[in-house]
Amino acid sequence: MTASSPAEPNAPILLEARDVVKHFPIRTAQGRQQVRAVDGVSLKVRTGETLGLVGESGCGKSTFGRCLVKLIDPTSGSVLFDGEDITHMSRRELRSRRTGFQMIFQDPYASLNPRRRAAATVEEPMRTHGMGTDQEIRARAIHLLQTVGFDESYANRYPHEFSGGQRQRLGIARALALSPRLLIADEPVSALDVSIQAQVLNLLADLQEEQKLTYVFIAHDLAVVHHIADRIGVMYLGELVELGGSTEVYNNPRHPYTEALLSAIPVIDTDTEVRERIVLTGDLPNPIDKPSGCAFSPRCRYAQDICRVEKPLLQIQLDGREVACHFPVATGAK
Ligand code: SF4
Repeated sequence: MTASSPAEPNAPILLEARDVVKHFPIRTAQGRQQVRAVDGVSLKVRTGETLGLVGESGCGKSTFGRCLVKLIDPTSGSVLFDGEDITHMSRRELRSRRTGFQMIFQDPYASLNPRRRAAATVEEPMRTHGMGTDQEIRARAIHLLQTVGFDESYANRYPHEFSGGQRQRLGIARALALSPRLLIADEPVSALDVSIQAQVLNLLADLQEEQKLTYVFIAHDLAVVHHIADRIGVMYLGELVELGGSTEVYNNPRHPYTEALLSAIPVIDTDTEVRERIVLTGDLPNPIDKPSGCAFSPRCRYAQDICRVEKPLLQIQLDGREVACHFPVATGAK
């Protein structure tokens, strides 16, 4: 796998989330309640950067990703793309902005029309946006298919004639059709074999370098995210609990939840590093009824009384890391 090149530290902010909240109302035996899928997430992504978002399934990362590209509307908070607030834009206003940001899904098959051939699949967004003559659109579709590694013979194949990795590459070609600046990739490799994962990650890294793309890369696997991201944000129960440089977060987690996530990753070179396996007890709490104080407290091995009553805020630590914890893991502790 190829790590992406580090983003310019002073590159302009391309994407900003301000206190994004997404609650889903549901009916339960207790009456109407709210699933608090995303509970106040703020972050900024610079042009050319890859931000990795990790957390267990159900932590809200995919819902947050959908809010970022306005596939769903946040309950409150705002999303700015290239300095412009897109949160309350009408569909019409959004249409012209949508060329700037696209999403790649975990299961490209579900998002590809099974009756549309590969070239027509890539052409479709260009036709919708009136981006040239039939000939120009066809030529660009063929070029995009080649960019993701297909020769022209694939142009007339249907999605079911592609393997899982090939379908993901077709999904990427389609996402690139409108020359976006930002790609939100939601678990783009988690359904693929490990060997194919590396191919798709390398393709994404190459495309980023060639086309100066910005990525938000959502995954449950910290080891995968570490290879592709410049920074990593860790989410737990709809909240960001740690945010920092990829290498720093991976090598020296400061939030107890990040520490536990990392401890589950096997260490290859046991001569140089031994990682204590931390077993997370209990399931992820119900996002309808979140624990008081720190949401991680029922599963945290460092929890003290204050943790159960006072919610820790995401705060910048002396090492520049942002951590939401009353007792962050010490720098250098493993
Ligand atoms: Fe654990 Fe307390 Fe930190 Fe929460 S605030 S992660 S319970 S130490």
